[in-house]
Amino acid sequence: MITRHELKELASFEIEDVNFVNLFLNVDPTENPKDEWLVRFKNMARDTINNAKPDQKKKVQKDIELIEKYLSDKPEGMKRGMAIISCSEKGFWRVYHTAIPFLNKLVVDHDPFIKPLAAMVDLYQRYLVMVVDNTRAKVLITRIGEIDEVNDVSSNLEDPNTGKDGSKSDAGAHRADKQRDKVQKSVYKDALKVVEVVLAEEGIKRILLGGTDRSRAIFKDTLPLPLRERVVGEFVVEAKSNKSEILERLMPVMQGVEYNFERKALDGLFDLNKGTALGLSDVLTALQQGNVHKMYVLSHVTTPGSSCTQCGALTPERDRPCPYCGSTMRHINYMLDHAIQRAIDQGARVDMLDEAPRLEKVGGIGAVLRY
Ligand SMILES: [Zn+2]
Repeated sequence: MITRHELKELASFEIEDVNFVNLFLNVDPTENPKDEWLVRFKNMARDTINNAKPDQKKKVQKDIELIEKYLSDKPEGMKRGMAIISCSEKGFWRVYHTAIPFLNKLVVDHDPFIKPLAAMVDLYQRYLVMVVDNTRAKVLITRIGEIDEVNDVSSNLEDPNTGKDGSKSDAGAHRADKQRDKVQKSVYKDALKVVEVVLAEEGIKRILLGGTDRSRAIFKDTLPLPLRERVVGEFVVEAKSNKSEILERLMPVMQGVEYNFERKALDGLFDLNKGTALGLSDVLTALQQGNVHKMYVLSHVTTPGSSCTQCGALTPERDRPCPYCGSTMRHINYMLDHAIQRAIDQGARVDMLDEAPRLEKVGGIGAVLRY
């Protein structure tokens, strides 16, 4: 699990003359029945040590040995993805187990490499999930490929559909209908109280709604307008389904919702009437001015750059001194990662995209500006 808070902590590191070894692994047991991930790590580690500059080699080797020792004991709490960030020079060590696998990657950089973690946090926004039927309303929260049940509100009255009243008369049926509506309304009212508390406490903005068509429609009618506007997707599921069945049903809905939000946001980025920065150079200038509201990055793009050894300014690759303070610049291999860190550190939102031809044309990075 990685939280926004932890991401912010990682993003706050300054670029220094130290080496962070950052490992990202797919440890999904279905794809690694014989713990093949350990061999993959060892291969990447060997290449990394071979390619390290002479002055780095020893330090990088030390962190890799620490990681190897940790991995060979088969760590507890493993899920499908594992990230390890180690910098023995600074006594820094972090392990993250995630429900979504990473692409295998080993990166040595001057500070924590956060792109894969930022992408995960961004792509798997938290949603409040409601699953409703006649006598029941479940409240759940999604967290990066996982789902937790928060509350299960159900009526202690029997479901009138299967109730004792076996009468087939019109009057009986009418009574049963009325009774059912009453039960349903009171359950939904109680669930609504839970929803309001959870949304406020967890700062969640989006709601997904599951259940039969009829139950969802009735539930939506009981929602006050501000909450109804937060329902961004719906899906069919039985309320008695367990957590993983619900998660399976809502994953594609969630991905569709994210995709649509991203497309809309990208349209904003290329809207000439808005204040935007396109391309590395303009975005870095905007970051320097603290003027980035939201940044978009193509996840597969890698670009080098430079950072000032004194003031920390980030610029496209340059062999001249810092444009801001005149000090010497340091070469940076993974510039977009540093741009992401700077943006997160400044409290800007970062959106990672897998595919966006328009963004690719301008170098894989763009930003909507604050002013
Ligand atoms: Zn400078």
